[in-house]
Amino acid sequence: MEKNALPVVIAGAGPVGMVAAADLVRQGVPVTVLEAGAELSGESRASTFHPPTLDMLDDLGFAKTLIAQGLKAPQVQYASMIDGQLGTFDFADIADLTRHPFRLQAEQFKLTRIILEALHDNPLFNIRFGAELKGLKQDQQGVDLTFTGPNGDETLRCAWLIGADGANSIVRRSQDIPFEGFTWAERFLVITTPADVEAERPGVTSVSYWADPQRWHFFLRIMGAWRIMIPVPPDIPDDTVTSIGFARDMLVSILPEAKDAPILHTTLYRVHQRVADSFRKGRTFLAGDAAHINNPLGGMGMNGGVHDALNLTHLLGPVIKGEADVSTLDAYERQRRAVTMDAIQNGTIRNKRNLEAKTPEDRQAFRDEIKTALSSRDNTRAFLRRIAMFDSLERAAKL
Ligand SMILES: Cc1cc2nc3c(=O)[nH]c(=O)nc-3n(C[C@H](O)[C@H](O)[C@H](O)COP(=O)(O)OP(=O)(O)OC[C@H]3O[C@@H](n4cnc5c(N)ncnc54)[C@H](O)[C@@H]3O)c2cc1C
Repeated sequence: MEKNALPVVIAGAGPVGMVAAADLVRQGVPVTVLEAGAELSGESRASTFHPPTLDMLDDLGFAKTLIAQGLKAPQVQYASMIDGQLGTFDFADIADLTRHPFRLQAEQFKLTRIILEALHDNPLFNIRFGAELKGLKQDQQGVDLTFTGPNGDETLRCAWLIGADGANSIVRRSQDIPFEGFTWAERFLVITTPADVEAERPGVTSVSYWADPQRWHFFLRIMGAWRIMIPVPPDIPDDTVTSIGFARDMLVSILPEAKDAPILHTTLYRVHQRVADSFRKGRTFLAGDAAHINNPLGGMGMNGGVHDALNLTHLLGPVIKGEADVSTLDAYERQRRAVTMDAIQNGTIRNKRNLEAKTPEDRQAFRDEIKTALSSRDNTRAFLRRIAMFDSLERAAKL
């Protein structure tokens, strides 16, 4: 490695960039993180951590603190507004595969804060806030970065760059890597409310998906409240949709008794399904939303991004330390892009199609899928392994 180049720079201090940083520091590799924001993002967005992700975070020493700040959801429920309960799955059925047989409901900003707190004083860790990566140029030996900081334009040279800079990734765009896919016509409204969901949906579990041809929705219990996601038809203008009155109407349309329930927070999301053509170009890598974005049904975006981050750092750390050949890095794209296409993209599209199924045949197919998954212990385990993302990790390891 060149004398004056940093070993690795990570663009973006979201959950993916921070997990990558933590794992490289654990391996003894000095890391510099450039974060455009003045501080860590406080946006909720992801609130589901799957069992294997919790196992990985446990290996890094973060799971216990995160679990203490979240809510364990040992069961996942599927139901239909037309057909009633379809089935409930319990992660206890795959307790032999994980130290965490539950989904953890905790907002993603809790994880990034925990990691920052842990790394803050580590001499191997350097984070620059208010440092927006503007462009980069790479050659055989390294990458030259330009970023704006509090004192104007600055430059840096590094041996390797990880682009964990989210869906609009400058790392991806600067390398002309296409981001093919599509955008769903409807937007997704997330309402956070302490409404009494149990009173109107007796037996509701902390993670509960409800199919409906007109207005599918799901309930995720977080500490002290529920996050409820509902699709919004494309023809309603954004400024109408973001009003509290509209959120109230949507809430009451699925929970009529919630007309006086407080609405703590609403956010409107435009949702995409896109995957970068390549997860690596020379000395630059893409991970997390920079590499792939998907709808949130199944909670796979951030989880998949954390899996990317650790797959990459387990390869990159040894290369930087001179313990492995550069050619070993080829495994990253081979493994992670394939499972992103199969498990994350196809899985989340299938979840949405099931919940919005309009024809009697499609509704029957969804009911049959759940019925089959509950028909034997082996089938239940196979279903849970898929939705908890064990399958995608095992498949990646074999590629
Ligand atoms: C409503 C909703 C619910 C979701 N729920 C789940 C869920 O339950 N489970 C799940 O797994 N996923 C979920 N997701 C997806 C999840 O939020 C994302 O996949 C996750 O945030 C990706 O993390 P990231 O670190 O790759 O990117 P981000 O979280 O977007 O972080 C990128 C960081 O890079 C910084 N940045 C951007 N550009 C630059 C630049 N040029 N220079 C320096 N820094 C830059 C940004 O400021 C930001 O801090 C959900 C998404 C939505 C919208």
